[in-house]
Amino acid sequence: MICPRCEYAEAYTVFEADDKAWEIFRCPRCNFNWRSTEGQELTEPDLYNPRFKLSEKKIQDMAPKPPVPPLRKTGTTDVREKKSPSRT
Ligand SMILES: [Zn+2]
Repeated sequence: MICPRCEYAEAYTVFEADDKAWEIFRCPRCNFNWRSTEGQELTEPDLYNPRFKLSEKKIQDMAPKPPVPPLRKTGTTDVREKKSPSRT
């Protein structure tokens, strides 16, 4: 199965209906998922909107996902360490 978005040739079936009326495919390169019953503009590589096509280079050049910030060393202990209001 060829991925309509990036044209990677190793897209595979993820799921199929019990009566085999439809299947869901997934591309391991660009993570595109599509159903066999969707329109040809989503299932056929040649008809997929060129504006949304991806290539190996485009995928590599994508900005990385936001990194997880470093964990705070104090965690929630600073809440406990707060001084209680002074009693007068
Ligand atoms: Zn793909």
